[in-house]
Amino acid sequence: MKANSPSLTSLDEVNYECPKCKDMEGFFTKQTQYYQDREYQVDAWIDCECVKKKALERLMKASAITEEFSKMTFGKFDLSSVKEIVQEAYTVAYEYVREFPDIRKLRQNSIAFLGRPGCGKTHLLTAAANNFLAKGIGVIYFPWIEGFNELRNDLSQLDERIRRLQQAEVLFIDDMWKGTDKPTAFEIKQAFAMVNYRYLNNLPIMLSSERTFAEMCGYDEAVGSRLKEMCKGHTVTIKGGIELNYRLRED
Ligand SMILES: [Zn+2]
Repeated sequence: MKANSPSLTSLDEVNYECPKCKDMEGFFTKQTQYYQDREYQVDAWIDCECVKKKALERLMKASAITEEFSKMTFGKFDLSSVKEIVQEAYTVAYEYVREFPDIRKLRQNSIAFLGRPGCGKTHLLTAAANNFLAKGIGVIYFPWIEGFNELRNDLSQLDERIRRLQQAEVLFIDDMWKGTDKPTAFEIKQAFAMVNYRYLNNLPIMLSSERTFAEMCGYDEAVGSRLKEMCKGHTVTIKGGIELNYRLRED
């Protein structure tokens, strides 16, 4: 007898991803319904809780948010040792998440944390993104440098990738315009394609950058001014010296 041949026992002991619904994603249950004063027992389909969990896993995978980033939450952000401006950024991010259902379809539905590196800009925006994902709102994470490397490396997929970034429920652009002093014509062209589409369709952008909106307008007026308008009311620009560096703070 071959060691791996399936026996009845092993078939009975199939490992389901979800033992509760045996991967059917739900089950029938008896429900009482009334029709013209009579009582009927009907089979009603109930979605299993694993459906929601799987949807979240799919969203998480599509978001390109790494395992490390998925652990960044508001709760893990240490507010006790950061300067006032960083605390303000925390409040703006937190409020943004709270207001999001009301503002998401408006022109001013986006958020920007600009200025000094290492103040926790990415952490706070990632916490907001994780919050959205947990609520079933799709977020696509686009880290500027790595994202552009990927776009350039396979131009045959460029259109499709840009379309994904244009149409995501929420687009999180991390470290926008990072790199050499002056962005390339390719970067400007793709940035305009993403930002303009989202601007015209009132689709939110979460933005972190070391550049100010004025500097961005210097690179490209159309991109910079649209982003500024979209992020109005939810923009924090962090200026100041090394003492603001969240990563370097002493414990
Ligand atoms: Zn299930």
